[in-house]
Amino acid sequence: MKATVLYGPRDVRYEDVPEPTIQEPTDAIIKLSASCVCGSDLWPYRGANPINEPMRMGHEYCGVVVEVGSGVKTVKRGQFVVGSFCISDNTCPHCQFGFQSSCEQREFMSGGQAPIARVPLADGTLVATEEMPPEDLIPSLLAASDVLGTGWYAADAARVQPGSTVAVVGDGAVGLMGVLSAKQMGAEKVIAMSRHKSRQELALAFGATHIVTERGEAGVSQIKKITKNVGADAVLECVGTQESMNQALYCARPGAMIGYVGVPHGVKFDGQELFMLQRGMIGGPAPVRRFLPDLMGLILNRKINPGKFFDLKIPIRDVAEGYKAMDERRAIKALLSV
Ligand SMILES: [Zn+2]
Repeated sequence: MKATVLYGPRDVRYEDVPEPTIQEPTDAIIKLSASCVCGSDLWPYRGANPINEPMRMGHEYCGVVVEVGSGVKTVKRGQFVVGSFCISDNTCPHCQFGFQSSCEQREFMSGGQAPIARVPLADGTLVATEEMPPEDLIPSLLAASDVLGTGWYAADAARVQPGSTVAVVGDGAVGLMGVLSAKQMGAEKVIAMSRHKSRQELALAFGATHIVTERGEAGVSQIKKITKNVGADAVLECVGTQESMNQALYCARPGAMIGYVGVPHGVKFDGQELFMLQRGMIGGPAPVRRFLPDLMGLILNRKINPGKFFDLKIPIRDVAEGYKAMDERRAIKALLSV
């Protein structure tokens, strides 16, 4: 079998690897229906994270179960499943509290940019559909695995309420999903901060009511203008740089929550500054498993269509082009057919 392996900065290859097998009784093996490249894959691709040995890539996945270990009780062969990028048992105290991404047995999924993948802790991680979903819903179901679930978590963590004003920092796929999520949760104003025409159009299609193109102080003053000098009730930070974090902090009103889901790189907080600003923050890897059943329901009932952000569709053997196009911001998100 061939799979996607990252060797070093901008060196991603589709090459022969051993086919995954059951290693633990709680494992499942799935045949992927489609795969994709995540914005967070770009951190190691760009050399922002060290690569000590060749890395198997891909943590967003959905597909059909082909084999389960002897300890798997609820997931069955032949079922269509979507799983979170965070592997969880869904039974420990953190899972029960809704933070499956801090599961006592947490692992991070890998090896999903391939035709076949191994999923540990299958019972706790995977959610099955009642029947085989129609082909045209596969991209959206794949999105639920990470990027939609992460945007949803950002909005949940920022405590988006019906009627509220929400600012979304970042116009990548996760930011766009944050816009969709805030809209679904009943926000009255959803302000997308974006400088790119094609992404602005998608943000509007996903429910944004305002676009702010400015950044820094000018961006903050635009948010103030829209909110009668108050600031946003909830802010979603979907980038992970110091600039975007500052943007989020200063766009929020006192007492607001900031959901931050961009993986922070070089971000520092000043205790006294945070003290005086009076903003609440919660971030981290999204507990996608908590939201998966609801999100899959919204997709299967065609209430939301997150999959429309895939603007590059290529065969998985061309995965290197998918990384390159996203790195150069020629594509928002690359769908890989397997
Ligand atoms: Zn757990």
